[in-house]
Amino acid sequence: MRLDVITIFPEYLEPLNVSLVGKARARGQLDVRVHDLRAFTHDRHHTVDDTPYGGGPGMVMKPEPWGEALDAVLASGEGRPVVVVPTPSGRPFTQELAVELADEPWLVFTPARYEGIDRRVVEEYGERLDVRELSIGDYVLAGGEAPVLVMVEAVARLLPGVLGNADSHRDDSFAPGAMAALLEGPIYTKPPEWRGRTVPEVLSSGHHGRIARWRRDEALRRTSLNRPDLIAGCDPKDLDRHDRAT
Ligand code: SAM
Repeated sequence: MRLDVITIFPEYLEPLNVSLVGKARARGQLDVRVHDLRAFTHDRHHTVDDTPYGGGPGMVMKPEPWGEALDAVLASGEGRPVVVVPTPSGRPFTQELAVELADEPWLVFTPARYEGIDRRVVEEYGERLDVRELSIGDYVLAGGEAPVLVMVEAVARLLPGVLGNADSHRDDSFAPGAMAALLEGPIYTKPPEWRGRTVPEVLSSGHHGRIARWRRDEALRRTSLNRPDLIAGCDPKDLDRHDRAT
């Protein structure tokens, strides 16, 4: 998969050299290219922002550097990428979307600063490309670089061969399948007793059916406690008799 990120803070994307994403890059599973937006300006001060039409506080990112940068990135590859525009006013970025994006061969991210990017950029590229305005949560950050790190990591760990154990995301919170829409329940490792606290017995029973049942009950319990909205959104046919009693 190829990933391009256009930003005024290329150094903010340094964590893409570390850990899972860094290893995927080193193995050639991910081709990550970070571009400095200011390289696509032509004035002495490398200006990327200007005052907003209609007045108001803050500055708006100018369309020209974004247009030039996106044209250069598009011309450097084959086919049409999905363009991801991080913005608090976008659709929520979910695990479902991460799965969808992990199927794409090429993603281009446009993290903004200031009050965001002149609207005409999304309109212009939205006419010929799949442009997704995505939010990583109901809060406002100073820039889109951290959201890009979040989205890239969520997508990259789903790519074949990136996680050591291909099954490790199968039981994750929000994973599609039997536990769909549920949060993952509590997890344990050795030692069997720590500070007087023991591991639930069922987990050492070797009884796969009982373990699966226990995990599902715990997932339901945790989901009802922390995210009742997810339970409310569950398709009743995905719940069995035992679930309803939990
Ligand atoms: N004026 C914008 C608004 O109220 O929607 C906020 C702009 S924010 C200060 C600057 C940039 O940070 C955004 O354009 C976006 O790239 C990024 N950003 C901030 N919060 C975000 C979030 N929750 N999800 C995705 N991107 C975000």
